[in-house]
Amino acid sequence: MNTQHSEPEMLDALIIGAGFSGLYQLYCLQEKLGLKVKVLEAGDGVGGTWYWNSYPGARCDSESHVYCYTFSKELTEEWNWSERYPGPAEIVSYLNHVTDRFDLRKSIEFDTRVAAARFNEQDNYWDIEIDAGQHYRARYLITAVGCLSSANVPEIDGLNDFAGEWYHTGQWPKEGVQFEGKRVGQIGTGSTGIQAAPVIAQTAQHLTVFQRTANYSIPARNHILNAKDRHSHKLNAATTRELTRNNSNGHGWLISKRKALKTSADERASIYEKAWQTGGLKFRASFSDLLISEEANATAAAFIKRKIHQLVDDPETASTLADIDHPYAAKRPPIDTHYFETYNRDNVTLVDLRKTPISKITKDGMLCHGMDNTGQHIETHHELDILVFATGYDAITGTLLRMDIRGRNDLTLSDAWSAGPRNHLGLQVAGFPNLFMVTGPGSPSVLTNMPAAIEQHVEWISDCIAYMVEQNHTTIESPEPSVESWVNEANAEADKTLLPKVKHSWYLGANIPGKPRMFMPYTGGLDKYRAICQKAADNNYQGFDIS
Ligand code: NAP
Repeated sequence: MNTQHSEPEMLDALIIGAGFSGLYQLYCLQEKLGLKVKVLEAGDGVGGTWYWNSYPGARCDSESHVYCYTFSKELTEEWNWSERYPGPAEIVSYLNHVTDRFDLRKSIEFDTRVAAARFNEQDNYWDIEIDAGQHYRARYLITAVGCLSSANVPEIDGLNDFAGEWYHTGQWPKEGVQFEGKRVGQIGTGSTGIQAAPVIAQTAQHLTVFQRTANYSIPARNHILNAKDRHSHKLNAATTRELTRNNSNGHGWLISKRKALKTSADERASIYEKAWQTGGLKFRASFSDLLISEEANATAAAFIKRKIHQLVDDPETASTLADIDHPYAAKRPPIDTHYFETYNRDNVTLVDLRKTPISKITKDGMLCHGMDNTGQHIETHHELDILVFATGYDAITGTLLRMDIRGRNDLTLSDAWSAGPRNHLGLQVAGFPNLFMVTGPGSPSVLTNMPAAIEQHVEWISDCIAYMVEQNHTTIESPEPSVESWVNEANAEADKTLLPKVKHSWYLGANIPGKPRMFMPYTGGLDKYRAICQKAADNNYQGFDIS
């Protein structure tokens, strides 16, 4: 680490990232506790995930009236969402409003990427180095880097030879991309690809979607909110807040207590149909046993597969789209706007990469190789002007590991996590004192409505730091036995569900070659998790070492 620069500025806390987490963490520590705090942000504006993800069709899949902060009644009262599901521009505009309303901008350094952070064991502070070589010192280091911020561009032979333009959806150019008159190839049919394809198809000359794993999707049924909707959301804001803070998923609805397997086939079909018509992630909450029992899950899977066959005109395309190899919602379930119907357009083609895998990218397209139904060898060259990678992220840990973070005895985070991102309560890693992660591995994070999980984490961390200051303590850390115990508890929760059984899932890190496999999000639910964290705090941070 470069140490030749002038004496670093000493802070109480340094926060990495100016998205939902970083902004609220700044507000709590600076405005409520009066601490000296700085946020470092790689982008040139606030927004985090939504700053980078402005790809066509991008839209949040939490409903707008819950995809927001709840800490300020005035903020809730004054902000008006325009649609059921907000897009990136509106979310970024909301976060800019929050930044200015609470006077946070003065403490944020934009265009500033953290390169390294090292714990100084002698004086118990973090020494943080940014790309430009400048240093900061802070008692506490808080990562608020988001779960889906490290774009994954798979290594495909020939990408450097491609003469056209190519983009990853998670690093979408701010000026947008013109698809008119262009032959576009899109790799990936996760939540992102499912949102992007219908919008790209509207203007592209031709869109070829390269599907490796077929996916479920439920209609989002987005719509403009009218004055009555908004009035109702505001009237019910306090009740909604209670609900989002005290249920397992952080959304504004509860998971049904009914079991699919205890419901007659006719009634089940009518419950699924109603949920399909309502749209959105709530489909997943139709029955309590969907993520626990394979047999129960199969009833939802069969319903969605039937819908795909009804929506898609060409039977072969429908079969390729419905040939799904995992239980519904055991991978993150997408919601869409006319995704399956998009394949009825004359300018859209689906390529089944299971039958004809990509062999390489060429100067002017993509070469796929394989066997047809009769066992004949086939080679197809798809001519392309633009290639869109909707290929996901090195999720949850990618951005943390990209920084050179070192704790006691120069231990690197990647060494500490060589067997997977082991941690205590999803908040701390053994050997890394005074380092807190917001919505990191081991916490409910991506299995919930994110702002609800973020508020819980930020408030816990803020209370903890307030306690440390009051008690004149300088270090808080998680010893290995606490980590071991939390890893076991989180694994036991995950094993109660179907989620870890899907081997090719980013929840497990399986989408990134070489990434250690460990089920990362905590599946026990936000309500249970909140109670566990609160109990530790109420018992003077039991399970943590404080000095
Ligand atoms: P993803 O779920 O990881 O999907 C990536 C897609 O790319 C998959 O279809 C994957 O196929 C494919 N892929 C990756 N490498 C490939 C390769 N070498 N060759 C062919 N195909 C390849 O990523 P995502 O769609 O960006 O979504 C990530 C997460 O972001 C979501 O699960 C969700 O949590 C979040 N998200 C949220 C929203 C929202 O709020 N509305 C929107 C978008 C994303 P395989 O499945 O075969 O690996």
